[in-house]
Amino acid sequence: MLRTTLVSIVLLLAVSSTLVAGEVATAESATGNTFALVGAHIRGHGVATLIVKDGRIAEITAEEPSESLRVVDVTDRFIGPAFIDSHVHLAYAFSALELARGGIAAAVDLAAPVSFLTTDFAPLRVVLAGPMVTAITGYPTKSWGSDGYGLEIRGVAAATTAVDQLYATGARVIKMPIGDATGEGALTMAKNPSILSDAELKAVADHAHSLGMQVAAHAITDIAAQRAAAAGVDVLAHTPTERLSDATIAAWAERAVISTLAAFPKLSEPAENIRRLREAGATVLYGTDMGYTTFPGINPLELQLLANAGLDNAEIIAAGTTAPAKFWGFGPDYGVLAVGRSANFLVLDGNPEHNRSTLARPLAVYLDGRRIEAAVP
Ligand SMILES: [Zn+2]
Repeated sequence: MLRTTLVSIVLLLAVSSTLVAGEVATAESATGNTFALVGAHIRGHGVATLIVKDGRIAEITAEEPSESLRVVDVTDRFIGPAFIDSHVHLAYAFSALELARGGIAAAVDLAAPVSFLTTDFAPLRVVLAGPMVTAITGYPTKSWGSDGYGLEIRGVAAATTAVDQLYATGARVIKMPIGDATGEGALTMAKNPSILSDAELKAVADHAHSLGMQVAAHAITDIAAQRAAAAGVDVLAHTPTERLSDATIAAWAERAVISTLAAFPKLSEPAENIRRLREAGATVLYGTDMGYTTFPGINPLELQLLANAGLDNAEIIAAGTTAPAKFWGFGPDYGVLAVGRSANFLVLDGNPEHNRSTLARPLAVYLDGRRIEAAVP
């Protein structure tokens, strides 16, 4: 069933990609790509005029725009940077254009078949893992990921080769499952060949680091999160769902965790783990596991659950903008609104620092200075 669904989704993606290019290209071309948004509140500038020229923010000024400029009236609206989702699956559901319409400028795809590594996701900027590096018959090759979502290895030499192979094909982050989805961890590893050994985990992480890649782990249990830290993993792909020990929290204090709280909204441990990880100093990255979760855009439930876990609205916005831009190396054009940078921003009906849910329903999304057409007329 899932297999059939995935195949049809992949076909749909292939068909829709030509539409994507056409729709985006026509968005601003009729009126030129230099224009001024007038009357919106912009953090740090009060009510200001934002001038976009050739895809970049040319000016943020208190002055009225010159008469020759095309003006977009956004009086009383709020303008803020577009979001970065640090955990998506573009192979499962939603086109890049659907994410863009929902306010996402950049994303990290944490498991897809190799073919996705060479797919053009414009107008989104996407960093991809490709298949997870996993043990022979390991997660997820015997479950949802049997169609190429796992690259199976055995031994340290194979670990290095797999990382080289993924890098050469376009992967810029490596993802490994640690333990398994049902919570078996290191204790069963010796008897369970479908879990990567500590030596294999470390070989993958070391080699990925030597190529400049970040390493993410699917580690749901305390033991798995501990093993991930010991192997040198940089980021947890999910907040673990089992209560983390103080030692595990300490091991992750200088690393990062992708929230994905909306992927398991009924559990209370993830929120508590996020709270303790933050207190210890870990970086929280907004991520939704989109594809598994089904909201295309900035997910209001994820925002709410992050708030429940103790983040204020400014911290939630940072987890979806400045923090992931820095962590993943998306560069200075993402996660910020500043003169000289790419015009990647949202027009919102309220101040997101007062009302975070406004982020989930942007009135308009601009990427590289082009307005992304609304999903619903
Ligand atoms: Zn995922």
